[in-house]
Amino acid sequence: MRNFSYSRAATSQEALTLIATLPNAKFLGGGTNLVDLMRENIEQPDALIDVTRLPSTGIKESGCGGVSIGAEVKNAAVANHPLIRQRYPLLSQAILFGASGQIRNVATVGGNMMQRTRCYYFYDKAARCNKRSPGLGCDAIDGFNRIHSVLGTSPHCIATHPSDMRVALAALGATVRVDGPAGEREIPFHEFHLLPGETPHIETALAPGELITSIELPPLAFAANSRYRKVRGRASYAFALVSVAAALEINNGQICNVRLALGGVAPKPWRAHQAEAALSGAPDKLDTFCLAVETELSPARGFRDNNFKIELAKRNIVSVLNELAEGEDKQRA
Ligand code: SF4
Repeated sequence: MRNFSYSRAATSQEALTLIATLPNAKFLGGGTNLVDLMRENIEQPDALIDVTRLPSTGIKESGCGGVSIGAEVKNAAVANHPLIRQRYPLLSQAILFGASGQIRNVATVGGNMMQRTRCYYFYDKAARCNKRSPGLGCDAIDGFNRIHSVLGTSPHCIATHPSDMRVALAALGATVRVDGPAGEREIPFHEFHLLPGETPHIETALAPGELITSIELPPLAFAANSRYRKVRGRASYAFALVSVAAALEINNGQICNVRLALGGVAPKPWRAHQAEAALSGAPDKLDTFCLAVETELSPARGFRDNNFKIELAKRNIVSVLNELAEGEDKQRA
């Protein structure tokens, strides 16, 4: 591990000044991913700027009827907050399915947005990896790729993103608020994380020197009927092979509102826009769910070891939608 300097910023302004003046610096949240990467010499910053002690903005109702979550808030605090549990249960469930209790008590919301892939070859400095060393090649494409993506890949990278929280935030249509040299701005969640294309080393829409300050959840009453399901190789402390975040509202047998996002299948949280369009206004029947899922997954392409993910995703989406539809039926009865 390379030597680096450490500074603790007391205000956002101080953090932005430090990142602008210290060469090759990075912001430090809980460090549950960044410090691992530094130990492996995958990340080699010369300076860390600790942003965990900025004035806390916490979790609060926002003016528009949604909820605002400060970037410095710990994952565990989000999962257990009454506003999140009542209004956005899929977000609480997604966080509680992630990592371990110890990690959730340290990891921050802002840090989770920046969490990097768990592709084995990315961590192995003897392997070729375009994300770690642009232009070098990708050993995952013809290698052992059981955990890799089936949607949104490119000939340069097929890695999956590892986060559970981000899948729920994609389904909710959250907004990422940032501050930086050009001032404050908001980035829609589906634009924040980038597909690999020809530049897999560029993973977010953050401009140099920008700091995530909060995540904004929109008012979404029907999200009270929502669910996050995670399928993984063992019962705890494992990344998703497939995950499904969904919210559903049915009126007189017709789907009037639906949100759907997938994890474990793509380089970024996969908002299932095609399936949502097919479901909206359709009858809440098994046939409808199956057709919507086929539409969404039709572009999916498996590699040698991960073909199973396509069918696994289809079956779990249908199953989660069925559960949510049944939940709505019980509420009406
Ligand atoms: Fe690197 Fe992406 Fe290939 Fe993994 S899939 S080796 S992260 S380029």
